[in-house]
This record gives sequence, C-alpha cells and structure tokens, in this order.
Amino acid sequence: MDHHAPSGNPLSRLDDWDDFVEARYPVPGEKAKEDYRKYDSSTRDGVREFYQLNHRYQTYDFVQEKKRTYLPLQKREMTVLEAVEYLNTLVDDSDPDISLSQREHLLQTAEAIRADGHDDWFVLTGFIHDLGKVLCLFGEPQWAVVGDTFPVGCAFSNRIVYPEFLQDNPDSRNPRFNTPLGVYERGCGLKNIHLSWGHDEYLFHVITQAGCSLPEPAQYMIRYHSCYPWHRENEYQDLVDDHDREMLPWVMKFNQYDLYSKSPNRPDWSQLSDYYTSLIEKYLPGKLAW
Ligand code: FE
Ligand code: FE
Repeated sequence: MDHHAPSGNPLSRLDDWDDFVEARYPVPGEKAKEDYRKYDSSTRDGVREFYQLNHRYQTYDFVQEKKRTYLPLQKREMTVLEAVEYLNTLVDDSDPDISLSQREHLLQTAEAIRADGHDDWFVLTGFIHDLGKVLCLFGEPQWAVVGDTFPVGCAFSNRIVYPEFLQDNPDSRNPRFNTPLGVYERGCGLKNIHLSWGHDEYLFHVITQAGCSLPEPAQYMIRYHSCYPWHRENEYQDLVDDHDREMLPWVMKFNQYDLYSKSPNRPDWSQLSDYYTSLIEKYLPGKLAW
C-alpha cells in the first residue's frame, strides 16, 4: 500500500457512499435494480457513522482551512492518466466480485454517456469526475472527501441527508451562520457559496487552474455533482442565481450516469485507453497541478 490512510478509516470502503446514494435515490419511476448491491444493516450503520462525522466537522471554518491547504495545488503534479492510476490504488479488496475499482466507475460512467451519443467533452467529464478523491491518498478522512455536499455559512437545510446530525455542527448554534442567508447575499450564486469540503470542489480547481477548455456545463457537473440538496432537493433557492438554474439540467443529466451506470461488466481499459487518451490530449493535456 503506497498511501497514508488514517488508521481505522479503511479506504477500501470508499465506494460504499456512492452506492448509498443509489439506494436513496432509485431511478424515478423504476424499481431499484435487483443486481445492485444489497444494503445490510452494517452498511447502513457505516453510512450513518460516516454522516455523523461529516455533519459534525464540516464547519465553515473547516472548509476555509481545507481551501487554504489544497487550493494552492502544491501537493503534486500529475497528468490525468497518472491521477487515474493513482486513484485506482483505492480498491475495495474486501469484496472484489462486486465492487468496482475507481477507474472502472469512471469508465462505466463515461462509457454510458458515450453510448447515448453525447459530445466528447461530456464523455471526458464522466471519465474524470471523481479524480478529486485523490484527497484520500493525501491523508484526508473519507468524511472530508466523499458523500453529499451542502452549503456552509448559512442555515442547514433539513433536506440534507441525516439532518439530525447537523445539530452536532457548532455552526448550527452560531448566529452568524444560522439564518437562511447566513454570510451570503440573496441570489449571490453557487460560485460565491462555500460547500462542505470534498472531491468536487477540489477537482474543479485542479481543472480550471490548469486552463481547462471543458465547457461550463462540464465544470458544473464536476463541481456540484455531490450537492444533492441543490440538484435533487431544490433547496437554497434564495442563494442560487439564474445561471445556476440554467446549468442545473446538466448536473441532473450527469447524475443519472454517475448513479445508474454501474454494472458488473467490467470495462476493458486496454480497449478504451486510446480513445480516452485522445480526449485528455484535446481538453486537459500534460501535467496538472494537484
Ligand atoms: Fe463523485
Ligand atoms: Fe462518481
């Protein structure tokens, strides 16, 4: 193992949280897929524990501190493919028959987008969208990398998953933060709002600081795909702006592929690598700062 996982926080369980989202949000109008992972009580306990930590510690100040730490992007330099290889060391080795590696999740998402005939930038977005999870390899606990994100610095929505755990967040008792607008101005737009820290925001900065030429819908998909209180629950309408509303359908479209493209058929990287290499060359060539 060449990473530095905090002990008691097995990286091998990283995928569980994505699967949990799938369980909470079955495809509208469809019955939950039989061949998706079954959720026993121990998985649910793990998810509860995860959100207990996440909701307690994701404060406004915590988010600022993580931004100061990571957004200068001075951890390492990697090409997109090097980041995929690096992230792929996060594998669920406890259950190899069911769990997909990180690269397989990225490829299945991207291939599902491609199979529907979408533009190449959309396909590449699927392929890179979770690369911010390399934060785990930099020693961040999972509750600071994955899971749903939500605005901090204003009152917490009761549509956030496990809202009861937000009572443990000291910001919920801070008069500066616990009004509907909090530190923000009405209609200021998502770009001015701090979300709980995780892989979405981090990757957004990696690609934009690299001078990414992916179009704006791609940037929204990357930055907000975990923000379920916004893209699924329609919360924070006082804070978002018209541009966010315009981009919302793209984020929702992307979400279908992120959640429902999982299948036991493992994509064959050797068959696909040339195609993805050419997409990376086109939109995100060379070394990126992480
Ligand atoms: Fe993600
Ligand atoms: Fe994903």
